[in-house]
Amino acid sequence: MYKILVTGGAGFIGANFVRLLMNATQYLVVILDKLTYAGNLVSIRDLLGERCHFVQGDICDVALVNALFEKYRFDYVINCAAESHVDRSIEDPSIFLRSNVLGVQVLLDACVRYGIRKFQQMSTDEVYGALGPSGIFSETSPILPSSPYSASKASADLLVQSWHRTYGLPMNITRSSNNYGPYQHPEKLIPRMITNAISNQKLPVYGDGSNVREWIHVDDHCRAVLAVLEHGVSGEIYNIGSNCERSNLDVVKQIVSVLGKSTELIEMVPDRKGHDWRYAVDCTKIQTHLGWAPKVEFSHGLLEVIAWYINNLDWIRSADDGK
Ligand code: NAD
Repeated sequence: MYKILVTGGAGFIGANFVRLLMNATQYLVVILDKLTYAGNLVSIRDLLGERCHFVQGDICDVALVNALFEKYRFDYVINCAAESHVDRSIEDPSIFLRSNVLGVQVLLDACVRYGIRKFQQMSTDEVYGALGPSGIFSETSPILPSSPYSASKASADLLVQSWHRTYGLPMNITRSSNNYGPYQHPEKLIPRMITNAISNQKLPVYGDGSNVREWIHVDDHCRAVLAVLEHGVSGEIYNIGSNCERSNLDVVKQIVSVLGKSTELIEMVPDRKGHDWRYAVDCTKIQTHLGWAPKVEFSHGLLEVIAWYINNLDWIRSADDGK
């Protein structure tokens, strides 16, 4: 039985990934999560037990990380822990550099010290920077981050690549486009719009709403991450996307329409500083090398997610309690 450390496993993608691991593998799963405002034990409570352990703690805590490696002798480490909200990174970059860069160094050092089968870093398409109306990012596109958040993620990618070259650490990096799905903190676009619309509150949209994102269902992302973990060639980077591009305004209008609300709730607000206009990733590599492809069509996935938030108002309250 493989033993895997999932850092950030109480966050949005981490919680969904742990759910997949519990359903699709026999791994022993250890979750290490600091439980920041974005982490929520409620998202994983039903999974905890003999095969899924939870430890509250910081990936920057060298003694704790070493003690966990000593105790469990992990086969795999997947790092989903990060400060992840661009707006917060603009307000205060320091915690982003600590968790997203120095925390990664602590994990990499432990992996080298104890030896593992593979370290996998959950990165983002935002490391590539912004696109205009045309073009698409491949894994060899230059790294050109725009925000303190994406700069911290890009820095982590470089650390992971250098630990591979210098210390021979087996690793993969995945770079996904924007995720949506259950258990996403209500500060992010889709859950924010759903929860505000349900309670007839204003729906704030940055700028003119024309910014384009490529939306992938978190289940598709998690399946891709597991495919890379089990079959990815060490040292490689894999983009993960859906080919489904939507402007922010279109997404908000679709949510309004599904919920039968008025578009008058939509309120254009001053644009985010350094707001990237468009992201899009070319996923040919993971599709051809690993046989992965997204399954969830956006309109269908959005309907399911809206239903999930309506049926899980208690979860939303528990997430909002963490701020
Ligand atoms: P999230 O903010 O929902 O969850 C992050 C989790 O990490 C939280 O549970 C938090 O408590 C934990 N955490 C933060 N700092 C920590 C630390 N120092 N030590 C231990 N735990 C810590 O984020 P998410 O949306 O689930 O994103 C997970 C990863 O995927 C991030 O690395 C993010 O950059 C990346 N990513 C996210 C998206 C997206 O659309 N959400 C897209 C591409 C990549």
